[in-house]
Amino acid sequence: MTRDAMLKRLRDPGDPFDVAVIGGGATGLGTAVEAAARGYRTVLLEQSDFAKGTSSRSTKLIHGGLRYLKQGNIALVLEALRERGLLMSNAPHLVRNLSFVVPNYDWWEGPFYGVGLKVYDMLAGSLGLGPSRRLSRDETLARIPTLERGGLRGGVVYHDGQFDDARLAVTLARTLAGLGGVAINYMRVVGMLRAGGRLEGVEARDLETGDGHEVRARVIVNATGVHADAVRRLDDPAAAPALVTSQGVHLVLPRAFQPGDSAVMVPHTDDGRVLFAVPWHDRVVVGTTDTPVESAALEPRALDSEIDFLLTHAARYLTRDPDRADVLSVFAGLRPLLRAEGTADTAALSRDHALLVAGSGLVTITGGKWTTYRKMGEDAVDAAAAVGGLPERPSATRALRLRGWREAPSEPAPWDVYGADAAALLATAAADPSLAAPLHPRLPYAAAQVVWGARHEMARTVEDVLARRTRALLLDARASVECAPAVARLMAEELGRDAAWERGQIEDYERLAGGYVPG
Ligand SMILES: Cc1cc2nc3c(=O)[nH]c(=O)nc-3n(C[C@H](O)[C@H](O)[C@H](O)COP(=O)(O)OP(=O)(O)OC[C@H]3O[C@@H](n4cnc5c(N)ncnc54)[C@H](O)[C@@H]3O)c2cc1C
Repeated sequence: MTRDAMLKRLRDPGDPFDVAVIGGGATGLGTAVEAAARGYRTVLLEQSDFAKGTSSRSTKLIHGGLRYLKQGNIALVLEALRERGLLMSNAPHLVRNLSFVVPNYDWWEGPFYGVGLKVYDMLAGSLGLGPSRRLSRDETLARIPTLERGGLRGGVVYHDGQFDDARLAVTLARTLAGLGGVAINYMRVVGMLRAGGRLEGVEARDLETGDGHEVRARVIVNATGVHADAVRRLDDPAAAPALVTSQGVHLVLPRAFQPGDSAVMVPHTDDGRVLFAVPWHDRVVVGTTDTPVESAALEPRALDSEIDFLLTHAARYLTRDPDRADVLSVFAGLRPLLRAEGTADTAALSRDHALLVAGSGLVTITGGKWTTYRKMGEDAVDAAAAVGGLPERPSATRALRLRGWREAPSEPAPWDVYGADAAALLATAAADPSLAAPLHPRLPYAAAQVVWGARHEMARTVEDVLARRTRALLLDARASVECAPAVARLMAEELGRDAAWERGQIEDYERLAGGYVPG
C-alpha cells in the first residue's frame, strides 16, 4: 500500500466511485471496509494521517462498557459485546483478553459489583472472555501488588478486551486496500460537488502537493468524528450542530507503578467517572477525564487540572504516588458526543452512534466508540446504499479477517501487532543488520519498523511513525524525541526527501512531542 499507487487510483478510477468516505478514523475506516467488502467501489480521504484524531487516543479497550450497564443501556452493552467477540476472531493479533480488578474498600462494593459483573457475564454469553468472580484481599493483592492496602477488603475480577487503536486503524486501511478500495492520507475535503440539489462528489486538496482533486461518487459519507458538524456545514452552511465535544486525558506511567498482568478499574471517582489503570505495551495507561471543550482541535492538549486529577486519583489507589516527573507521556482525545438538549454533563451523554441524512444526500455517521466501529460501518453503508441507489447487498464484514490475521501464535512484542506480516518484517530486519538495531534503549522498537511503515503502511512523516505506526510518543515522549533524527534519516531515504525535509520533520516532531511531556 503506497500513497503514490493510491493517488493513481484516485486520479484514474475508471468508473466513478460508488462510495466516498471522508475521515480516516475508526468510523471512516470501518465504513470504507464495509463498503468495499460489499463490492462497492470505495474511496476514503483523510486530511491528516489515519487515526490522527480521536482514534489513536482511546483507553485502548474493546469493551462492552460497564458504565452503560449502570445506565441501564442493555442494547448498547449487548451490541458492544457482540462486536468485541467478532473483532477478537477477525483480528486476534490486535485484541487480547485482559483481566480487570475492581478493588473494594467499602463493605457493599464486593456484593454490588459482584452481581453487576455477573449480569455482564450473562449478557456476553458464549462471547464471554472468562467468568467474573469475587477476590479475597490476598487474591486482590496477588493480582495488583501495588494496590493501596489501607482499608482494602477484596475485589472483583472480570474480563474485557484490549487493543492497539492506531495499529487497528492502519490494519483497516491495509484491509481496505486489499479489497480494492482507495485510502489516502493527507487529503483534505474542502468542498462538495453537486448537480442540482444532490451531491455528486467532493473537492479535495492534497496537503503534500497543494493539488486539487475532484472525486466523484454516488454517495458521500461524512465520518469525521468531532469535525462532523464542520463537514456538514461544507454541505449546508446552515446545518444545526449535532455534536458536543468532551476531552479525555490519559497519563502513561512506568510499569513499576502497577506491575501485575491485570488492569485496575475504579467504577466511581469524585466526579462520577470510571477510572482505569491498564497495562499496555509494558507501561501503565491511566485515564480518563471528561472536560467539555468548545473547539475541535486536531492536536488537543491536556489541561493542568486534568493531569492533577489523574495523578491524585492514581495516588489514591496505588502504593507509590506518581508525580509529574514520573509521567512518560500525556495524551488527550476528543469525544464526539451526540447533543442532548438540556444536559450540561457530558459524562451522561450517549456514547451510542447516530446517522444523519441531509437533503443533499450527505450521510453523516458519528458518536459511538472504537469497539462498535464495524457495526457503525454496517449501518452507515446500509444508509449510503439506499441514498446512492446502489444495488442492495448484505454486510460482508462479520467474518472478514483483517490484514495480518493469523492462526499461529503471534511473534513476541513488538512484532505481534503485525500478525502474519511479522515474518516479512523480520526478514527485512534480517536482510540488513542496521535495521535490526533498536531505535532507543527505552523504547521497544527497531529501525526496521520505520522502513516498514514508510514502505507498506503509508507513513509520510516522523510523527506518523513515532505516534501511530509505532507508539513511541505514548510510551515515552522524551525518548521518542531523542530518536526523531534517526527516524527522519530513515524516512528521508525511503521517501526520497532532502536534508531540509529532514530538519523540518525533526522540528515539527519536537514541537508536537512537547505537548505530551507534562510541564
Ligand atoms: C479519551 C477517550 C477514550 C476512549 N476510549 C475508548 C475505548 O477504550 N474503547 C472504545 O471502544 N472507544 C473509546 N473511545 C471512543 C473512540 O475512540 C471514538 O469513538 C472513535 O475513535 C471515534 O472515531 P471517529 O472515526 O469517529 O473519529 P476520529 O478518530 O476523530 O476520526 C475522524 C477523522 O476525520 C478526519 N477529518 C476531519 N475533517 C476532515 C476533512 N475535511 N477531510 C478529510 N478528513 C477529515 C480527521 O482528521 C480524523 O482523522 C474513547 C474516546 C476518547 C476521547
